[in-house]
Amino acid sequence: MQALQMTAWQHEAELREVPNPEPGPGEVLVRIGGAGACHSDLHLTDEFPPGLLPLSLPFTLGHENAGWVEALGPGVQGVEVGEPVAIYGPWGCGRCRTCLLGMEDYCEHQGEIGVMGAGLGRDGGMAPLMIVPNPRHLVSLGNLDPVQAAPLTDAALTPYHAVKRSLDLLVPGSTVVVIGVGGLGHMAVQILQALCPATIVAVDQREESLVLAKELGAHHVVQSSPDAAAAVREACGGQGAAVVLDFVGTDATMALGVAVVRPLGHLTIVGIGGGSLPVSFFGVPYEASIATTYWGTLPELVEVLALARAGRIEARVQTYPLARAAEAYADLRSGSVRGRAVVVP
Ligand code: NAD
Ligand code: ZN
Ligand code: ZN
Repeated sequence: MQALQMTAWQHEAELREVPNPEPGPGEVLVRIGGAGACHSDLHLTDEFPPGLLPLSLPFTLGHENAGWVEALGPGVQGVEVGEPVAIYGPWGCGRCRTCLLGMEDYCEHQGEIGVMGAGLGRDGGMAPLMIVPNPRHLVSLGNLDPVQAAPLTDAALTPYHAVKRSLDLLVPGSTVVVIGVGGLGHMAVQILQALCPATIVAVDQREESLVLAKELGAHHVVQSSPDAAAAVREACGGQGAAVVLDFVGTDATMALGVAVVRPLGHLTIVGIGGGSLPVSFFGVPYEASIATTYWGTLPELVEVLALARAGRIEARVQTYPLARAAEAYADLRSGSVRGRAVVVP
């Protein structure tokens, strides 16, 4: 079969011929219905130097996947061939404290395992077939379409986790700022609409992202610029934001976050844009908390799928056949994807 593989660091992914995978004991073979193209894959292929992450090459990209169970390895029980499934992507040891809580994204042994998940050190979903090492990573889709559901496993799960940890701050009269309305940000706006009464302010550098943010329920939109902080503060009614979700993560967006977050607020950095933030006594508002978050938990994925089934959130997808997977990433790189690019092998 064909697979879009990462073969070298700081090198574009390549479509290559690889053997069809066979599920070993305890493993499940999934026929991929959709594999989302995440901006993290571009950081991985274009930017990260060798040695930064404990991953060995080559492997097939695609950490945002859904499809149908194709075959079961020896000993697998509890899933049915033909069942539509979402694949929970962060794969930990399954035995440590955080893994047992369903938080395999924060596995205590991640560094030792040499795999961060599907399409991150082990073959992912940018191919017709993919091995899932354990059925515990599969969640039934019910009536959701795998192409629509693929982005839910990361583009929605990651902002869902970031929103949920700050939900108690998002009371009536509060404001939340979403910086970057791409794959993750366009789901964040919908998740915020579904979960809380806060006023939503969206910031992006692309006009079409701001149009999309409005369409999806943002109350105010602000074009990113050196004066964006003043415009965002005005949209927050002058008091600052209870929560800022930064889906870009550059020096500029983090500085914007600090400039608009209110005392006691949360600035959550989700974007891996390579920026950093100086923290000093008078440089950040009193008792503001700054955190990074990574992906989300398995129970949260179950909740995200339930929100989608209830019609409260829906990924806007732009689809590409596997033969044009490189084009999906090229479009993501050039900023011409609206919502999420999904490869349909
Ligand atoms: P994307 O390319 O789909 O969207 C990025 C959006 O940010 C675009 O709309 C772009 O116009 C906008 N943007 C870029 N620079 C900006 C700036 N300076 N000011 C305002 N807006 C700006 O990317 P994505 O797939 O949504 O991923 C977003 C980021 O989140 C990436 O860095 C990705 O690696 C990261 N990510 C992190 C996690 C995690 O668990 N922490 C998970 C997935 C993705
Ligand atoms: Zn991702
Ligand atoms: Zn673990």
